[in-house]
Amino acid sequence: MLMRIGGTEWKGNDERWIEVKNPASGELVDQVPAGTKEDVSCAVDAAEAAFGPWAKKSLRERGMILFHAAQVVRDQHKDLARLLTLEQGKPIRESIDEVRGFANILEFYAGISALSSGDVIRLGPAGDCMVVREPFGVCGAIIPWNMPVLIMGWKVGPALLAGNTLVLKPASTTPLTSLKLAGILDSAGLFPGVLNVVTGNGETVGEAIVKHPAIRKVSFTGDCTTGNKIRATAGAHLKDLTLELGGSDPMIVMPDASLEKAVEGALRGRFYNAGQTCTAVKRLYVHEKISTLFIQKLKERVDAITVGNGLGSRIDMGPMNNAEQREKISRIVEETRENKEGAILTGGSTLKGTAYENGYFYRPTLVSNVVPESKLVTSEIFGPVLPVMTVPDLDTAIREANNTRYGLGASIWTKDLATTKRVFDEVRAGIIWVNRHLTVPPEVPFGGINESGIGRENGQHALDSYSRTKTLFLGW
Ligand code: NDP
Repeated sequence: MLMRIGGTEWKGNDERWIEVKNPASGELVDQVPAGTKEDVSCAVDAAEAAFGPWAKKSLRERGMILFHAAQVVRDQHKDLARLLTLEQGKPIRESIDEVRGFANILEFYAGISALSSGDVIRLGPAGDCMVVREPFGVCGAIIPWNMPVLIMGWKVGPALLAGNTLVLKPASTTPLTSLKLAGILDSAGLFPGVLNVVTGNGETVGEAIVKHPAIRKVSFTGDCTTGNKIRATAGAHLKDLTLELGGSDPMIVMPDASLEKAVEGALRGRFYNAGQTCTAVKRLYVHEKISTLFIQKLKERVDAITVGNGLGSRIDMGPMNNAEQREKISRIVEETRENKEGAILTGGSTLKGTAYENGYFYRPTLVSNVVPESKLVTSEIFGPVLPVMTVPDLDTAIREANNTRYGLGASIWTKDLATTKRVFDEVRAGIIWVNRHLTVPPEVPFGGINESGIGRENGQHALDSYSRTKTLFLGW
């Protein structure tokens, strides 16, 4: 597949290609051009040319185009989901959810397109001020491989509705769905150049986007270290930034919680998308009064997870997206085993020696009695490995939950209002769920604190983050 610049396919000048492989088998799915700094410049030129007419359209007109594109995405959801599974690995059911999630986001922003917020400030004899919001111009978006379709929607929906144009770089392992979706959005009525997709390496294409002087805002989702690099580069040019850098979300289960619901919550919260979700349950704290029974029931459910090629009809969990991620997780579990930092109750290995050995599979893994200094607890575990810790009381659970450099999400499982309020007040995170985890609807602002990032995606908050205020001061 080719890049998309100025509303058409674009090969670029470099003869190099990036191979996109099926994570379930290691087989070639397709290839995309290894874009260059020059390709980014062409994309920015196209985006700059499109900005004027796009920004002049009314919010409602821009919203109608997003709405129209959402309908085409719904019509084509089966093909898009299949392509997503082929490049990303997740079960087809989850791919369908994700593609529908993309349509939901566009529809949500289309739906709020009648509201153009602003203020009038009356200063008496000094005059009146009118404060309006205006788009930045050309924005940059750099997205990861774990939820490439959903995260593309989180950036495209509010950025375009606000009147910006966009240069987007997908992850090198999952560029295909982004290119397809950009084609659909173009056909739905975007001016050529409103949305451009440049494929290629992070250090070439990603960096060129962040450095380009005409790009005034960058939105990035991915690793903390990459995020920090981007912050330093963008900071030097005083660019506006949204950074969503992952997390190490705690889930706390109290004795009064519904055991069944909490077990299901932990299962889905951790193993959905093979654990490669920024808001996944990454540390589980269970009250000692119920921990033995809870862990026994959870282990039964983890043992029952069917792992395999995501295109299969009865698959609960697919492979991890790439070999590096699988190695990273595998190493951390090995260290835990060697250092006796926890007891591996199930899993803890790849599918070597099975029909799936060429894929990037890792067995669903449950580890109990994990010590707080283990990497399983201190780092972001982006894979199907769940550490479970037994805690004597809520105070300990809250203290341990806060013992992290991240602060994306957290959940409390209880029926007690006072417990809920304490967790809401005292656990440091951008979102606290009660008796659920992982759900991130387009209406709700989403983002973290501390090293989980800066800014918010979704909701009116994201729309505001893709615009800045401008004031007209009328001195009568
Ligand atoms: P990265 O941050 O490297 O990748 C995310 C995106 O950034 C990709 O498009 C990548 O391109 C691009 N990129 C890489 N380097 C640069 C750069 N110097 N400048 C601009 N863009 C760049 O994440 P990884 O894939 O390496 O994953 C590592 C860890 O990050 C995971 O283990 C997980 O902990 C975390 N992560 C968090 C996510 C989240 O949702 N918050 C999502 C994915 C990962 P390319 O693909 O070409 O390298």
